[in-house]
Amino acid sequence: MNSIHPSPVAIVIPAYNEAATIADIAHRASWFTSLVIVVNDGSGDETARVLEKASIVVLHNRRNLGKGKSLMSGIRFALEHGAERIITLDGDGQHRPEDIQLLLDKSAASPGTIIIAARLHNRYCAPPLRRFANRFADFWISWAAGYSIRDSQSGFRLYPAKVFEQCQTVSNNFVFESEILIDAARKGIFSLSIPVDTIYRKNARVSHYRPALDTWAIVKMIGIKLIKRGLYPIGLLRSLGVWPFPPTKHSTM
Ligand SMILES: [Mg+2]
Repeated sequence: MNSIHPSPVAIVIPAYNEAATIADIAHRASWFTSLVIVVNDGSGDETARVLEKASIVVLHNRRNLGKGKSLMSGIRFALEHGAERIITLDGDGQHRPEDIQLLLDKSAASPGTIIIAARLHNRYCAPPLRRFANRFADFWISWAAGYSIRDSQSGFRLYPAKVFEQCQTVSNNFVFESEILIDAARKGIFSLSIPVDTIYRKNARVSHYRPALDTWAIVKMIGIKLIKRGLYPIGLLRSLGVWPFPPTKHSTM
């Protein structure tokens, strides 16, 4: 591990078998901060080797622990090293590191807000099943969070540090990124979405996301939260825009 510079902005990239892309993504991310953290999630390929010479922090999980746990270990490291804003993005090349500037600009204009890089441009290049799963998840997550969220499944985000001080979200895999939006909303921390390109490269590796199983895990988590809240009918109405949203300064995109 190279020397670590404290920085108010940190970038966390989970990587599971991303040898083909991770070094380039991490390098491009390092243009924005000295604190780039890749969490190598028990990869069985050359991910560790291709990062050996990179001027970034690499945390290694001995075995595969899933995206959520990998993100949280990177985020904890970032917080311990002074990060006030944490940007997360995927390591497979579907999130363009250069778009980090858009997140930073939006965050400067709306401090204290989660900023989601929402894949709204060229969205028809995503597989139809994935598009359906994302819209389905948006509906449920918006309901449980009590406001409309666009591209709730995007892992490309900026979080203010206070999200992790106030939320105890522990769920794993792809559930984590859904649950943190709901938990943050309960604490009065909301999100804004900014549009970015949808990128699905030809010859990309097979997705780790399992549309049926992972969407079911997300819906199950939300169902439990909604039942505990008496189905939260006001949240549903607010998410559909037919009931006023109380926080005065908030608007979604
Ligand atoms: Mg991907």
